Amino acid sequence: MHDPTIPNVNIGVVGHVDHGKTTLVSQLTGSWTDRHSEELKRGISIRLGYADATFYKCPKCGGEELWTNTETCPTCGEKLEAVRSVSFVDAPGHETLMATMLSGSAIMDGAMLVIAANEPCPQPQTKEHLMALELTGIKNIVIVQNKIDVVPQKKALENYKQIKAFVKGTVAENAPIIPVSAQKRINFGMLLDALNTTIPDVERETDVMPIMLIARSFDVNRPGSSWRDIKGGVIGGSLIRGEFHEGDEIEIRPGRQYMSENKAKWEPITTKITSMNKASHKVPTATPGGLSAIGTKLDPAITKSDTLVGQVAGMAGSLPPVWDKLKFDVTLMERVVGSSAELNIDPLRLKEPLMLSVGTAVTVGIVLAVKKNQAEVMLKRPVCAEVGSRIAISRQVGGRWRLIGMGLLTE
Ligand code: GDP
Ligand code: MG
Repeated sequence: MHDPTIPNVNIGVVGHVDHGKTTLVSQLTGSWTDRHSEELKRGISIRLGYADATFYKCPKCGGEELWTNTETCPTCGEKLEAVRSVSFVDAPGHETLMATMLSGSAIMDGAMLVIAANEPCPQPQTKEHLMALELTGIKNIVIVQNKIDVVPQKKALENYKQIKAFVKGTVAENAPIIPVSAQKRINFGMLLDALNTTIPDVERETDVMPIMLIARSFDVNRPGSSWRDIKGGVIGGSLIRGEFHEGDEIEIRPGRQYMSENKAKWEPITTKITSMNKASHKVPTATPGGLSAIGTKLDPAITKSDTLVGQVAGMAGSLPPVWDKLKFDVTLMERVVGSSAELNIDPLRLKEPLMLSVGTAVTVGIVLAVKKNQAEVMLKRPVCAEVGSRIAISRQVGGRWRLIGMGLLTE
């Protein structure tokens, strides 16, 4: 049986800026995911946030209600039993940060689409994020109607109808809509219940070569630490299958850039795993699903400030290919969403720049060839990806990258 205190799934938290995503994650987990100084200053999320939660139930009250972020029953004071743990991936909702949201969507098993009840629905990134979920194949969705503490019941009902109309015909058509106040912790029992049924734990292959998508990377040392105390570089992300063990020799691809005959080349990075954490537990084995933090022997200068985001880690010699050109089958949507002017989407053009999101990698490239439903793109930075991977395609529209469709990596 899976250990209920170790997360097995990642739940994405998506939606328009200021609708309460970071507040909700904070109330569900006890940690504020905007940690970066600029995030705190501007009051918005810039990087992918992450935090874990364990859901509990009370053996004594016997009620249906699940609790989070507390080990004793708020009703009767009894010690609670762990039911399951999940990791949350908090995406930024600002329209200029779609690339980060798309990078996060690669590791989401399901998502909460947060919609504030005190604004007309849909707002631009409510639409754009739902479309991103649709294109990246995330089907398990719970809609969180937030901020019900600031609207009268009549307005909340009107907003509910707007949400229903908005999701009709989309992947979220039948998603449960749970009214909550993230700030006042209203209706969390029902929300946890919906997360439990809509985004259940996933059976994962452990007996195969591990593959980890890197979503964050860090230098965990404080400035001015003595060299004796320096800790090696840390990578964070999700094992999509397989396991890592302490002491494993791993490879990270595409790895490190170097110059050879005036050309940029890439070589894999190899290192050894020194420690692993899941949900703030030190673990000897990192199981697939949920978020893992992997301590390595790397020089922290290599991992600092998310330098390795988008790369892939696994056992030496077993990683998918590294591509500097991507060939893929293309499906474009009809209209651009996410901006006020919803323009029609024209076919891909030769030599136009595109932003492609593959796994947690986001890379820019130039279209080398286009046929009817196929494109080939020369990348500025190579990516490590399996044939058959989904690629989210964005194009510059009105000076911004806008999601226009998806591709499937063909060779
Ligand atoms: P994000 O951009 O979606 O991550 O939104 P934040 O979590 O940063 O919240 C944006 C603002 O909305 C903050 O000022 C929060 O305090 C406020 N907020 C979030 N949830 C609620 C809620 O349930 N009720 C009320 N009244 N305000 C909320
Ligand atoms: Mg936020």
